[in-house]
Amino acid sequence: MRNTLVLNASYEPLTTVSLKRAVVLVLQDKAVVEHAHPLGMVRGTGIAVPVPRVIRLQRYVRVPFRQRAPWSRRGVLVRDQHLCAYCGRRATTVDHLQPRSRGGADSWLNTVAACAEDNQRKADRTPEQAGMKLLRRPFEPTPEATLMLALGLRGSEMRELAPWLPAVA
Ligand SMILES: [Zn+2]
Repeated sequence: MRNTLVLNASYEPLTTVSLKRAVVLVLQDKAVVEHAHPLGMVRGTGIAVPVPRVIRLQRYVRVPFRQRAPWSRRGVLVRDQHLCAYCGRRATTVDHLQPRSRGGADSWLNTVAACAEDNQRKADRTPEQAGMKLLRRPFEPTPEATLMLALGLRGSEMRELAPWLPAVA
């Protein structure tokens, strides 16, 4: 359930997030509670936070809603949830489908997360040439995913991003 509204530092509505995500942002001092539910508190180890209905980011976040999200290696790993596009195991590298040495671009549609082993095995070839099958097709991240990137969320927090991403082909 995404039922907490997130405002930018400028009070402009940005998106909605889960209650858990909202509380984490508040506890990390990334956001303040603007409106809380009149009843109830969220309780954790040694903490109690009012149930936030609206939170506001402490820092202004520039969100390229109408632009394409800028490509980055980290962005590709996050988009692919750190899972290798070829074998599904943990990925730490970014593979260019059309290799850069052959004019392949640093773009969302030309790059996938890959484990070091598969990246090395594929080398300077396309997946077809290497006889390697993609488990999913690369895509451009949604504005919501771009926002989460801009908020600097990482690691296990990124798993919450999964429902926000387009369905895997
Ligand atoms: Zn792999």
